[in-house]
Amino acid sequence: MVTESNGRQLEVDDKRYLWHPFTQMKDYARERPLIIERGEGSFLWDIYGNKYLDGISSLWVTVHGHRREEINHAIIEQTKRVSHTTLLGLSHPPAIELAKKLVDITPSGLGKVFYSDSGSTAVEIALKMAFQYWKQRPDGPSLKRKFISLKNAYHGDTLGAVSVGGIELFHEIYQPLLFESVKAESPYCYRCNLGKTHPSCSLECLARVEEVVREHSSETSALIIEPMVQGAAGMIVSPPGYLKGIREICTRYNILMIADEVAVGFGRTGKMFACEHEEVTPDILIMGKGITGGYLPLAATIATEEIHNAFLGEYDEFKTFFHGHTYTGNPLACAAALANLDVFEKDGTLAKLPEKVRFLEAGLKRFRDLEHVGDIRQKGFMVGVELVLSRDSKESFPPRDKTSIRIIMEARRRGVIIRPLGDVIILMPPLSISLDELDELLRVTFDSIRHITQR
Ligand code: PMP
Repeated sequence: MVTESNGRQLEVDDKRYLWHPFTQMKDYARERPLIIERGEGSFLWDIYGNKYLDGISSLWVTVHGHRREEINHAIIEQTKRVSHTTLLGLSHPPAIELAKKLVDITPSGLGKVFYSDSGSTAVEIALKMAFQYWKQRPDGPSLKRKFISLKNAYHGDTLGAVSVGGIELFHEIYQPLLFESVKAESPYCYRCNLGKTHPSCSLECLARVEEVVREHSSETSALIIEPMVQGAAGMIVSPPGYLKGIREICTRYNILMIADEVAVGFGRTGKMFACEHEEVTPDILIMGKGITGGYLPLAATIATEEIHNAFLGEYDEFKTFFHGHTYTGNPLACAAALANLDVFEKDGTLAKLPEKVRFLEAGLKRFRDLEHVGDIRQKGFMVGVELVLSRDSKESFPPRDKTSIRIIMEARRRGVIIRPLGDVIILMPPLSISLDELDELLRVTFDSIRHITQR
């Protein structure tokens, strides 16, 4: 905690020196900033000692709660050995041990782990890997240079990731800077572009994806997808069979399947990896966010042996993957990730989840009583409550009303931190949250939506 005057100074300096991501700084300048000083379990405290429930796992990363003793300890122990050494031509024990574990827990068939430091960089790596793989396959180079991605997709903010993105608000302005990616239908059942209703639609959207893939397959290196849940688009949950269908299409038309598990990985959907829901093995799997339990920046792109082997050759053939970020596979981050996986086992995190998921599902039912709640989507611990001006027309609230922003500010006044995506209120608590804390999260979110939309 700080004194009132030190706190005020921090607030002034925050506004003076910081440019916050995904934040309209003109609005930010008007509000009193919330400056977090400390965390414990499912809670965060600001510099004045006010307590908040962390309803979004500090942007979808915290897994076992803040300040887990085992993860703290692992990082401190690693600092006694070495805090950073490169993986460019050298190695270190935590990177090796973690790679072995990741291959162990990901769907079988994936064999080689390439580290980086954020979800976006891991996506860039997957895209470059896929492209180069087709150039260097033993049966000769191909013209496969395009990517297929889904409408409403989000894969990060770097330009490669934006090229395969599909959220107009975030991505449209950069269009002139991007490479070509063909957009296929997303399984957004609430606002189905094809005017269908699930399940009578028989997954027409999947048939449309197949048409796109068929048309472009000879020039396409890979299809990239967020398995089971398109997160940043507002938790759009795929109907059963969609993901498996995508795998079959990729195989049938000989293109690689890249599964971006940055948001959905590490238990968020109820299983360690979302691909497990439909027993899918992608050719490349990307992970980030929860990999260190929410402690340090680390990500990984995991490929099949077959992809890796296309990069083998004599030194002067230059088949090398010329990619590597300075902090790639940082030892402190790898040590945190190993401890994170240990806690999964020790706590029985995944075994405890179904009860909490059911509790969440039951608690979300009464949100339907709120007249401006249009759709409630949930997969495991990922929840999106889509707000609409009118349920009948599904018309959105005018952006200038800032409805969802006012809702999260109301929740903040009531001691809960959440963050919206457009008109969708997102809940994504740490997997370690207790039932009582979940109850509080549900109650405050419900009351805040009601308070702002029904007066
Ligand atoms: N892929 C997905 C599916 C994501 O949700 C995100 C981040 N929300 C990213 C990639 C990018 O990750 P990062 O912000 O760590 O670059």
